[in-house]
Amino acid sequence: MKGFEYLQKELDEMKEQGVFRNLIPLESPQGSKVNINGKEVIQLSSNNYLGLTDHPKMKEAAIEAVEKYGAGTGSVRTIAGTFSMHEEFEEKLANFKHTEAALVLQSGFATNQAVLSAILTKEDVVISDELNHASIIDGIRLTKAGRRIYKHVDMQDLENALKETQDYRTRLIVTDGVFSMDGNIAPLPEIVELAEKYDALVMVDDAHASGVLGRNGRGSVDHFNLNGRVHIQVGTLSKAIGVLGGYVAGPKTLRDYLIHKGRPFLFSTSHPPAVTAASSAAIDVLLEEPELIEKLWDNTKFFKEELTKLGFDTGISKTPITPVIVGEEALCHRFSDKLFDYGVFAQGIAFPTVAKGKARVRTIVTAQHSKEELQQALNAFEKAGKELGIIK
Ligand SMILES: *Cc1c(COP(=O)(O)O)cnc(C)c1O
Repeated sequence: MKGFEYLQKELDEMKEQGVFRNLIPLESPQGSKVNINGKEVIQLSSNNYLGLTDHPKMKEAAIEAVEKYGAGTGSVRTIAGTFSMHEEFEEKLANFKHTEAALVLQSGFATNQAVLSAILTKEDVVISDELNHASIIDGIRLTKAGRRIYKHVDMQDLENALKETQDYRTRLIVTDGVFSMDGNIAPLPEIVELAEKYDALVMVDDAHASGVLGRNGRGSVDHFNLNGRVHIQVGTLSKAIGVLGGYVAGPKTLRDYLIHKGRPFLFSTSHPPAVTAASSAAIDVLLEEPELIEKLWDNTKFFKEELTKLGFDTGISKTPITPVIVGEEALCHRFSDKLFDYGVFAQGIAFPTVAKGKARVRTIVTAQHSKEELQQALNAFEKAGKELGIIK
């Protein structure tokens, strides 16, 4: 079809530079091992931290919900698409997170867009970590609020930003709880102290901390014992929770406001019954099977230590996200390809997702991996790493 030549030209350039990537379809359920291209490989690239994507209790809850309530909801939440299960689940989430209220949206991405675009006007300013997730950046783009980006986890720069912005009505500091590319944890206690000193609000996006950090996976706020001192907690149901969706947990005022002004909430259809039922069952699993989180951290410790012993640079991670930093983009993709040949699926990530010269194979171990699988993966890393001269 004519009219897209200019797009094709750009794609061709990407192919020449070796940065054009094809999607890689799984031919099996998500898990510690998956089938790709007819081959069984160890999965180290998913966000399925606790292996919940096919947890029996959640599948059962989803099937029952489909039988009882159908495949879809037929409306947005604010018109005719709120089911009692949606509200029951939100109350359960609020209890779980120790907040007054919670509101579920279609995705974590939509949640950041909804919150940031709704609550900030040109009288306000948003103060944002430079490495925050794309959905925060895009949410900020939708507001007329002032913007001040502070250097990554740099508390001196954050304090400067707070000093510079004293004339605004509301000042909202926003940060990822766990940064998705390096796996480091935001210094929330220091952020909260600065916020209290300068009378600012704090919003934390716990996409990679939900189900991973804190008691029973309650997130970074609970991890640092900051319950009641962080104004807005965004979470996702799409990563460790194993289903799909995002939510905001905070004061009832915020929930009520977003129901009226959060555009993705207002103008996009509510979650199908299966999604809500499975997500709700996942919260039960977090409460009833804390051993999953223990196993996740046990595997994390083992895998990180062994990678370091082999001589790989795993950066500054403090969480199950373990980057294996290679540097050069083409080498990184060759490393990932070789790992696949040796039975490991670990995707390369390069510019613009991470800085130039910081290309990496990003790994995430899960509670589902056995030690044998992790050892097999380590053997593959050793072999591929030596062949490419990444380690000696
Ligand atoms: C993955 C991610 C999101 C998006 O969550 P989805 O539920 O997948 O839309 C938002 N914020 C951060 C920090 C993330 O890592």
